Amino acid sequence: MASNLFKHFINGQFVASADGRDFEKRRPTDNAVIGRVAEGRAPEIDAAVTAAKAAMKGPWGSMTTEARTALLYKVADEITRRFEDFVEAEMADTGQPRSVMEHAFIPRGAANFKIFADVVKNVPTEAFQMATPDGAGALNYAIRKPKGVIGVICPWNAPLLLMTWKVAPALACGNTVVVKPSEESPGTATLLGEVMNAVGVPPGVYNVVHGLGPDSAGEALTRHKDVAAITFTGETRTGAAIMKAAADGIRDVSFELGGKNAGIVFADCDFDAAIEGISRSAFLNCGQVCLGTERVYVQRPIFEKFVAALKAKAEAMTPGTSLGPLISQEHRSKVLGYYKLAAEEGATVVTGGGVPTLEGDLANGAWVQPTIWTGLPENARVMREEIFGPCCHITPFDTEDEVVAWANDTDYGLSTTIWTTNLSCAHRMAAAIEVGITWINSWFLRDLRTPFGGSKQSGIGREGGVHSLEFYTELRNVCVKL
Ligand code: NAD
Repeated sequence: MASNLFKHFINGQFVASADGRDFEKRRPTDNAVIGRVAEGRAPEIDAAVTAAKAAMKGPWGSMTTEARTALLYKVADEITRRFEDFVEAEMADTGQPRSVMEHAFIPRGAANFKIFADVVKNVPTEAFQMATPDGAGALNYAIRKPKGVIGVICPWNAPLLLMTWKVAPALACGNTVVVKPSEESPGTATLLGEVMNAVGVPPGVYNVVHGLGPDSAGEALTRHKDVAAITFTGETRTGAAIMKAAADGIRDVSFELGGKNAGIVFADCDFDAAIEGISRSAFLNCGQVCLGTERVYVQRPIFEKFVAALKAKAEAMTPGTSLGPLISQEHRSKVLGYYKLAAEEGATVVTGGGVPTLEGDLANGAWVQPTIWTGLPENARVMREEIFGPCCHITPFDTEDEVVAWANDTDYGLSTTIWTTNLSCAHRMAAAIEVGITWINSWFLRDLRTPFGGSKQSGIGREGGVHSLEFYTELRNVCVKL
């Protein structure tokens, strides 16, 4: 079993926990144990943070931007060279279909390193000349400095993509990192350690400590006094706990949190494109996408036709090929709890609502049926709480004002997807819906240089392009009296 142990990566070395503590990792497709994961606690976090702090003073700290960003290009190329290893590792952890890994999640993981290397090389800082009473004037200019050791805490739904979205800009800006991957997805964070060593990233720059959240590696990382800032993707209530920990020492936080996103389909839309788009936004990754659409609003003239077409799409999905399982048995219990609750709250189950019948080993996996409901009021819990499964509720609407009010009546504010051929309507909606990202006639499409983040309880701050530099660097002003 020891050979199947996912170890920590601290100061360039793979190590078990000092006390030998670990936990098992099961594959979601069939519930088989695929290995054990070292469980780090305060001692491992302290070792990793100490290594990361020391690395800031070593060759990494004095490296030029050109040399550092060239190294990050090599990281991206090495991920691409080991593409199949990353695909396999992430498939084992999350059970999602190979096509999703190959076309989206793993390539994006590699791309993150190149895009942020380019951003860091090309973004200028500001300068101001000012008058002084003696007439000589003064020159102010800003410089960016790394913050130091960044704590990176990640979820399991797109492990490599979401982790590198934070690690890449942190390193591009010259920081060092201690990553706490999700307990459900130890694979690709560990593999990335091998990549870092292979291309010559100095020891201590990238560290990984596996473990759980409360009373474990996650909490220890947020409480460590030498962690300068914490970047986190996960549930809103976890964000609240981390924010409390970060208050000690006044550490900065960047949060990408939960959502309960609305998809809005107008009667004048390109119908087939809208069905394709909403089907992806509701069911991709088995509905485990923070940007996914659990509330769909469809204009009344096409409501019946839309419900029937989305039902056909859902029923055409095949477990194991076009649809993966949920991440774990525990998460399946949560999602099935909402399936039950929907029925209790009076929903009409258009399709799904249960567990598919599967043969052989797959019968033990964390599978659920893609599910569509209609008929719930806006105040139903199923309409207000993030489920994070392959499901959506469809409500008919008549007017723009009505649907804007419903879409915004939520504590969350992450994303929305709007389907219409009326350009003016699209722009009005984009301005009216209170979210960090609005898609018009698309979903999950994004230039990585753009700001990404959530409003309300969906997040704090923006990452992406130059916006990541705001979080991962300290902007200093230098004032020179001439
Ligand atoms: P989670 O909050 O349960 O866990 C995320 C990470 O936090 C894990 O590594 C976990 O071990 C750690 N953690 C838990 N409690 C902690 C604590 N007290 N201190 C420190 N660390 C702690 O989230 P999850 O179930 O892994 O992920 C799903 C959630 O993530 C959903 O709510 C989803 O919407 C959200 N998400 C948001 C985005 C976004 O960009 N906004 C992207 C992906 C996922």
